[in-house]
Formats: sequence, C-alpha cells, structure tokens
Amino acid sequence: MTLLEIAQARLRDPDSIFIECDDGRIFTYGQFWHLAGQFAQALVSEGAKPGDRIAVQVEKSVEAIALFYACVRSGLVFLPMNTAYTANEISYFLGDAEPSIFIISPEKPQPTGIRVLTLDDVGGGTLIDAARQTAGVFEDIADDAERMAAILYTSGTTGKSKGAILSVGNFASNAHALAQLWQFTPQDRLIHALPVYHTHGLFVATNTVFASGGRLLFRRKFEVEDIMRVLPQATALMGVPTFYTRLLQNKGLTRDATKHMRLFVSGSAPLLAETHKEFFERTGHAVLERYGMTETNMNTSNPYAGERRAGTVGMALPETDVRVREGGIEVKGPNVFKGYWRNPEKTRAEFTDDGYFMTGDLGHFDEKGYLVISGRAKDLIITGGFNVYPKEVEELIDAMPGVLESAVIGLPDSDFGETVTAVVVLKTGASLASADIILSLKLNLASFKCPKRIIIVDELPRNAMGKVQKNVLRQTYGVRPV
Ligand code: AMP
Repeated sequence: MTLLEIAQARLRDPDSIFIECDDGRIFTYGQFWHLAGQFAQALVSEGAKPGDRIAVQVEKSVEAIALFYACVRSGLVFLPMNTAYTANEISYFLGDAEPSIFIISPEKPQPTGIRVLTLDDVGGGTLIDAARQTAGVFEDIADDAERMAAILYTSGTTGKSKGAILSVGNFASNAHALAQLWQFTPQDRLIHALPVYHTHGLFVATNTVFASGGRLLFRRKFEVEDIMRVLPQATALMGVPTFYTRLLQNKGLTRDATKHMRLFVSGSAPLLAETHKEFFERTGHAVLERYGMTETNMNTSNPYAGERRAGTVGMALPETDVRVREGGIEVKGPNVFKGYWRNPEKTRAEFTDDGYFMTGDLGHFDEKGYLVISGRAKDLIITGGFNVYPKEVEELIDAMPGVLESAVIGLPDSDFGETVTAVVVLKTGASLASADIILSLKLNLASFKCPKRIIIVDELPRNAMGKVQKNVLRQTYGVRPV
C-alpha cells in the first residue's frame, strides 16, 4: 500500500481525530489532509516543481508534519533540519541540497539568495498566509514508490554529514510493517514527544499511527510531568532510552499509572538491560526495543507477542533481510534508502555487491535469533594492533557497584596508536577510585583491553536522541593534560 492509498483509507472517515496537541488544538484526518493540500498548493504557487527540495528548519508543530505530506502529495522532496544547526551548518546543507524554498521559524535570521517562508509552532507565518489563500483541493501527483520523498542529513559524527535519499516506498513499507507488527488500531493513542527533524518522531511514530487510523497525543517536547499527566489518556509511547530513565525517576510511574497502556517502544540508542528490567519491575511492561537508522528506517524489532529480550533489538521486519558479516550488520529490503544525495562514490562504498547496506553497526544474533548490537564500527579501538570492543569494557564497568554508566573510547597515542580510556559517571553519593576500577577490570579482561585512564564526570554528552556523543568525548579528552 502506498502512502497516498493509506491516506485514501483514512479519508473514508475524515472526522476521526489524527492529532490532539498539548495546546488544545485538534486535527481530524480530514483537516490534516486539507492542510497538507493547502501547503502543497502554496509551495507549487511559489514555483516549486516536482523533485525540488523544500528545506525546513522549524520548531516542532503539526504543520511541520503536514509539510512532509504536502511534499509526498506534490512530488517535492522534504528536507528537515535539526533546530540546533548553526548558520554555518545550514549554509553547508543549503549549498549541498540546493533547495528551491527554505521554511524557517519567523525569529531566525533570513538567509539571502533563496526563497524563504516562515512557520511558527502555533500555526502562524508567511507559509500559513500563503496556504490560506489556496483552495486546499489539491490534485495529488501520480503515486510512485521509487520517487524521492525526503532527504535526511545523517548526524555526521565523522566528516561532513551526508543526505540520505528516502523514497515514498521506503516510508510506506515501514509504516505498514510497524503498524501490523505492533498491532496499532484506530483505538490507539500514541504519546508523541520526540523531535520531528529526526526519523524516529517524523516517520516511525507519525506514519505508523497514520497507517492505522489511531491518534497522536502531540507534545511539543518531552517533559516527565507532562507525560505523567497525559498518560491516562494514552495506549502507547514511543521514546528514546532517556525517556525511560527519566520516567523511572518519577515516583508516580507505577503499575496503576500504566495499566491502560499496551505498548512502550524504545529505539535510536541502546536501552540498558538494567533500565528494561527496572521498568518491568515498576510497571509490569516489558519495553519493546527496536533498531533502525536514518538510512534504513526500521530494520528489526522485538516481538509484540512473545519474549522481548533486554539488551537485544529483536528480529528483522517481515520484508527486511538482516545479516551479520564479519561482525558488521547489513540490511536489505524495501525500507532501505536509495543512496546519498549527489554522492555516488559514498553510496557505492556503503553497499555490498549483492545489494546490502553496510550499517556500520557491529553485532551478532544470540542463541534465540535476536540481534544484539555491540557498538559502532568506527568506535572500535585499535591499540597496539589489538581490537578492543568498547561495549565489552563498558558492560563490566557498568556492573560495578556505584557506577551509573560509562563510555569507553580510544584516544590517540604515539606508542600504541590509541589507548583505551573510560569516561565514567558514578551514582549520586557513590565514591569509587579510578585505581579500583582498573584493578577490578584487570581480573576480567586481557590487559590490552583495560583502560589506561579513567575519567570521572558528572554526565555523558548526549544528543537530542539520547545517543552518547563519543566524538565529543574524543575531542574533549583527546589532548592529554601535561
Ligand atoms: P540515526 O541515523 O540518528 O537514527 O542513528 C542510527 C544509529 O543509532 C544506528 O546505526 C545505531 O548505531 C543506533 N541505534 C538505533 N537504535 C538502536 C538500538 N535500539 N540499540 C542500539 N543502537 C541503536
């Protein structure tokens, strides 16, 4: 089923509610589709032609999501950008993607040399003014699963970030697969508290609900108190691991408070087995962990019915093939992107001869066939010619009493190439000496794997999706103090 066919199914009941906002605004499926049609018409009137990129850097809003659907309806290419990007980064993206229109928050400085429209987070701005002048009855472009629907720039922790080209078919297949796998129905009320410039909030949460006819309880940002307040109306939550660790800090999170919930999903970063366990003990719900990335949408998921194994990301989605070769995770299927924007060499380099995308993630299948992710290939440490997998060391450190979490990185060393370094966060009130951590590791690890240096910090740097930024740690601690 294509996205437009899914929309047709939704429009058979146009008055059912698609999105309920935290400011009280409500969008039925009919109203949402009408808004997307108005945006499509406004963009076309501004001169945008099929295949043109529409760059968008705005605060989270329903309108931002409607813009994606406007692009799908009109053959334009949606290009969302993180609100945290600076003017320098933006100028790189604009130069690389050459969008014909740039939609920004009204308070942002307007770049020159490009058509700019504005959109705020409560339904105002010049885009809205332009949309209001249209009839909103838009004739959709012919459906084509291969057509470009979006370009998402990867977070680019090494070198310049690359634009991943995603097709209409990539989104439709994933929306369909997830709605079925996770048993979404029109009765569902999903708490949506993720940002909408990233694949998780923009596509996974939104398209899955759109494909099933359910409702989004749309929050502008994630705040524990707000989630606790809206919880009684919800049936499902999709989040990054930080959502779950923060929710666990709230005493109100109990079996009773979550008894009407049927599903908690986690992804975008590893959910610690300990968090999984604690959440289960507190609520009786086993968080369902899944694995995906910007380039591939979702690849694997723990089962809906059946054992959800902590520390694993489950099995391949129905039409997706996942394999592990020489420790590297590779995927193929209708969910996998078309290549990197204007970068055929990079695209070729990241696909195997038989068409699998090399994710750059390392992993293995456990004895029950569940995929376990053991880190990123680029985080692998090579010290004195030996390979050290950071996760192996991190797991041992994390298991020590008094340790909250850790990140193990390789830092440049003239002698060994890299030396193993552990950045450790202690639990509140705990005290643990670096020498004791090293001593205890030496009992369990070959000496080349043992960190030569332990750095105790208050917290690890994380991006908005909850991923630990090892590149930031490498930069911060890469130069040894003299
Ligand atoms: P992004 O493209 O920003 O969505 O980042 C994708 C990367 O996040 C993947 O390549 C993985 O390294 C990581 N990731 C996503 N989901 C998980 C998960 N459930 N467990 C561990 N890592 C994950």
